[in-house]
Amino acid sequence: MGENKICIRVKFSEEILSQRLNYVLNFIENHPLCINRLTFHTGVEAQNDIVLNYGCQGSDSIFMPANLFLFTDKVKTPVKLYTNKYLWKDGVIYDISEVLNDGLNNFFENSQVGFDVFETIFFHLSRIEEIWMENSCKESGYWMREDDLLLIRENIYDVPVVDHLVVALMQVMGIYPQEKLTEFVLTHDIDKIYKYNSIVDGMKADIWPVIFRKSLIDGFKNLYYFVKVWLGRLKDPYDSFHFLLNKENFWKEKIIFFMAGGKSNFDLFDKFYQRDFHEILEIANYNGYITGLHPSYYSGSDETMFLKEIEFLEGHCGHEVVHSRQHWLRFFHNITPSMLEKYDIKTDHTLGYARNIGFRCGTGFEFNLYHFEDERPYVFKSRPLIIMDSALIHYCREDMDRFSQILEDFLSKNLSNTCITFNFHNSTFDYTLGERKKIEKIYLKMIDKVKEQFLLTNKIA
Ligand SMILES: [Zn+2]
Repeated sequence: MGENKICIRVKFSEEILSQRLNYVLNFIENHPLCINRLTFHTGVEAQNDIVLNYGCQGSDSIFMPANLFLFTDKVKTPVKLYTNKYLWKDGVIYDISEVLNDGLNNFFENSQVGFDVFETIFFHLSRIEEIWMENSCKESGYWMREDDLLLIRENIYDVPVVDHLVVALMQVMGIYPQEKLTEFVLTHDIDKIYKYNSIVDGMKADIWPVIFRKSLIDGFKNLYYFVKVWLGRLKDPYDSFHFLLNKENFWKEKIIFFMAGGKSNFDLFDKFYQRDFHEILEIANYNGYITGLHPSYYSGSDETMFLKEIEFLEGHCGHEVVHSRQHWLRFFHNITPSMLEKYDIKTDHTLGYARNIGFRCGTGFEFNLYHFEDERPYVFKSRPLIIMDSALIHYCREDMDRFSQILEDFLSKNLSNTCITFNFHNSTFDYTLGERKKIEKIYLKMIDKVKEQFLLTNKIA
């Protein structure tokens, strides 16, 4: 762009944990909407620096209050948090707070920033609320119930609050970033390759909808289709690879995640999987996909298992595997990140919602999680999962017209200034279940929308 970077000197009091502050400053500096536009430092003031007084008053410079709520090593007990709305330009941005303010506030007035932007960003990225959570918020004894997450409670998970906040802060500093069209990442988790591998599989498929979906019709439909597939008259219901795997190159990245082990009832990696996955791997490679690991149900807390699976997959795909996403999104904040780091995973794709679509970490862009014990960022990147097929199906209770509408509304709300990662399973398009036959069309329409955006980006550039 040829523009000079603006230097911002951040003055802050000694009470502030500088490692956490620096983590946030680093995130902002390297944020794709800011990159090469600004640089922060906390050293001696140079002539043209903009000075940001963070929590300490000073004249002729910008002031931002410091909450000293998260940037402190004092042990705090979890409290109920809220968000307050602040007006900025044509939109609204949100803080995190222990109290609710009266009415609407301005984000920036008389050289003062309305709230502690740095701690707010830290809150969303570090996932401290999931680490802190009270027992009453725990689901299955391990993780936070989605409905209790702040962004869900406050109903602001459909926009990237952190990305918006970064833009607003830049504007306060006098930097006006160009609107950047959203980037899209396409991923697939391959939990099971074909549905009807054997007579036993066929029988299971007949009984399963009756028990779990209370649908006798789907049970009978499965029996009918099983016979048809078995006789070679129809494609297997999970055999959607011919349209699922997209060959075009308008994606930021395309990744296919394969299972490579597992011992729970939720892991479907068996001799049939091992027989068939080379073929799918080859088609995916041909279509420009990167291979990633889909670590099994218990592997998020079992190092030996994790290592075995990564070695298996690397052995079969012939190269290092650096992308992963935990099966069932099982991510234990106190165990999983250290394990990913230890085994050289470069990008994890797990942090998303299982029953909603939207931004769990406030951003769509990749970032580093925070290692609280060591007071440092983790080395690997987290790329947030924004739209997962099964989450939206759950949310719409299998109503595919609603699925289509919500997906469309969500995308049109987020066509700029973020990144959207999709996860579509091959098994989602199972034509034996309810209205699922409709998803193929919806999926292809979604891809057309992404392509349209890409063409627009190229026209602008
Ligand atoms: Zn899975």
